[in-house]
Amino acid sequence: MKLVVNTEVCSGHGRCYSLVPEIFEPDDNGYCDPNIADVPPELEARAMIGVNNCPEDAISVAKDGD
Ligand code: SF4
Repeated sequence: MKLVVNTEVCSGHGRCYSLVPEIFEPDDNGYCDPNIADVPPELEARAMIGVNNCPEDAISVAKDGD
């Protein structure tokens, strides 16, 4: 699965990379780095914790093949 970060609405709360640092990383300004590689199947549940806890709904999921 792939994740897409909408940098227009990410406001740098950092919940994603605080909760799930193995997937999300901050960029130099504390915003979520939008360059997220493919999430392997075994980490999809972890990825969804970040997706569901983003207060701005800035992270969306694109299933493989979308
Ligand atoms: S939790 Fe959402 S708003 Fe906060 S840094 Fe992550 S993507 Fe951006």
